[in-house]
Amino acid sequence: MTASTKAYRARLLRFSPEGEALFEEDGLLVVGTDADGVQRVHDAGPYRDLAARHAQVPVTCWPDRIIAPGFLDMHVHFPQTDIIGAPAEGLLPWLENYTFPAETRFADAAHAAEVAAFFFDELQRNGVTTALTFCTSHPASVDAFFGEAQHRGLRMMGGKVLQDRHSPDGVRDETEQSLIDSEALIRKWHNSGRLGYAITPRFAPTSTDAQLRGAGELAARYPDTWIHSHVAENKDEVKWARELFPKARSYLDVYTGFGLMRERAVYAHCIHFDDADRALMRETKTAAAVSPTSNLFLGSGFFDYEGAERIGMRHGLASDVGGGTSFSPFQTMLAAYYVGREGQTKPGLSLAPSRLWWNHTGGAAQALGLEGVVGTLQAGTEADFVVLNPAATPLLARKTALADSLEELLFALIVLGDDRLVEHVFTA
Ligand SMILES: [Zn+2]
Repeated sequence: MTASTKAYRARLLRFSPEGEALFEEDGLLVVGTDADGVQRVHDAGPYRDLAARHAQVPVTCWPDRIIAPGFLDMHVHFPQTDIIGAPAEGLLPWLENYTFPAETRFADAAHAAEVAAFFFDELQRNGVTTALTFCTSHPASVDAFFGEAQHRGLRMMGGKVLQDRHSPDGVRDETEQSLIDSEALIRKWHNSGRLGYAITPRFAPTSTDAQLRGAGELAARYPDTWIHSHVAENKDEVKWARELFPKARSYLDVYTGFGLMRERAVYAHCIHFDDADRALMRETKTAAAVSPTSNLFLGSGFFDYEGAERIGMRHGLASDVGGGTSFSPFQTMLAAYYVGREGQTKPGLSLAPSRLWWNHTGGAAQALGLEGVVGTLQAGTEADFVVLNPAATPLLARKTALADSLEELLFALIVLGDDRLVEHVFTA
């Protein structure tokens, strides 16, 4: 024990590394700051088993509250914070009419910094402690993002968007310079504290072959960076990608050809896939960022959970704000449940509440290549956690008091919860 060691006694939700939900009605979480300055979980489990071992440690008691891992958002656009809830006739008109004009403003460092601060406040209010984030094509947007994340000591990943064609003035970048800028940003920010760089082609239709090839070369040269893009979100986009890359077997296959599929590669959506695409995801250890509020809002389609499970494709949950309609993990988990239930376009199933929760915490960490780092509250992981008040509203209080099992309790929180549930957020 050191002077920094602290303990929290409350109801405690953790996950095993395999994804099993572990719950203590009377739990203890012991955290302390390690030599590298990062606060980690030193011990966690039932209070009755742990109390004697940590008798000297000061304890904060929250008897009615639930301590749980901080949430991970696998795909979000911080520059789209202000266009959440913008109406459009599907993805491509939405990009043209709202997204690109909003993103143009991020050439201005002061604007980028102001939005980044608001964005991190909003993540915090919702209990999201790690996010894989699009910036814009302007390096200033990346500096604003990482500067603010570093100031707050957060584990965050992001990167400069690459888009050198089929993009309007103001967001379109220039092939060679875009790759030079990306590499300079990798050297500046990647592995600086808890930050990680993501090589970020917007999606295949807005990059030339040369830019995609250059992105793949960067991904090979810096193998522990992330790769972050979109694929197979809506049928018009799939058709366009097939016309632009006629030699590829499928839209997803375009990315393999440029060396953009590997561990820590994350593709948002992955809706209009066949089993060969899913197998390619599995073989390359590439992960899908499932974005259900966005897919329902833009009418893009329904992620096939049965197919993902059957083939063994890595996946986790994401808000995809501004296409997504909420920063709240509870809203995202509920929308994922709706998407899972849909059984007209693909097999419908009922996702267990503990699985939805895993897909937004430890399972998302695993898909992101952050297994053992965050998301489970296992000993040795970073101490990013939330304190939830299950009686935050009258209906929540009534419903959670009736819960007879962990699944019933978690489902009540998912269906009725929002940012009012999140009482405290602790980051390592
Ligand atoms: Zn997106």
